[in-house]
Amino acid sequence: MKDFKILVVEDDKSIQNLITTTLRIHEYSYLTSQTGKDAVSLCASHKPDLILLDLGLPDIDGSEVIRIIRTWTNIPIIVISARDEDTDKITALDAGADDYLTKPFSVEEMLARIRVAQRRAAHFQNAEAENTMFENGGLQIDYTSGIVKMDGKDVHLTPIEYRILCLLARNAGKILTHSYIIDHIWGTAVDTDIVSLRVYMTALRKKLKNSDSAEALIQTHVGIGYQMIRL
Ligand code: CA
Repeated sequence: MKDFKILVVEDDKSIQNLITTTLRIHEYSYLTSQTGKDAVSLCASHKPDLILLDLGLPDIDGSEVIRIIRTWTNIPIIVISARDEDTDKITALDAGADDYLTKPFSVEEMLARIRVAQRRAAHFQNAEAENTMFENGGLQIDYTSGIVKMDGKDVHLTPIEYRILCLLARNAGKILTHSYIIDHIWGTAVDTDIVSLRVYMTALRKKLKNSDSAEALIQTHVGIGYQMIRL
């Protein structure tokens, strides 16, 4: 993949080597950094297309790195964290990360996540974000009329189901945390819990389930949130 430049931020040398060897084999170009401060300045000076960011860095916290970088760019950020750091993942996603990898991860898993992020980046470059029509697999949303179709058939959603679907669609490829979705649909003042959200998600999925692609369209990240996959 020529001209797609990845910034690898990881202070563990063996993991960094595993990542960069894999990237080299698959013809990605890359830069490396072992600290958060270095990552921020490399991001500003080299303008990478994607960041792979370890959350446990020796100087500043990975989530703080995301907050700083998000002040000027929407570049895809995939965080890397240890298995027992669910709250760190949620903090990182809420700070603006797109996706995460849990250590230990396979190189295939990492490459798959990179491809998801690439499709998301390409989508933004095409400025499709300004379109009034969203299409993904068999799913169609006409934002102007509010009509949703799956494989050409009308899907009848409640207002809340529709708003959740639009939120996931606008952020396709990105993992949205439970609290992010709840804040955006009900507002911070409302005491809606994760259990209620799960009920809406189940109903929404059931209504979309007219094709094989619907199955894979909305993914659950247990304990974290939901993600619409760009098919
Ligand atoms: Ca580390």
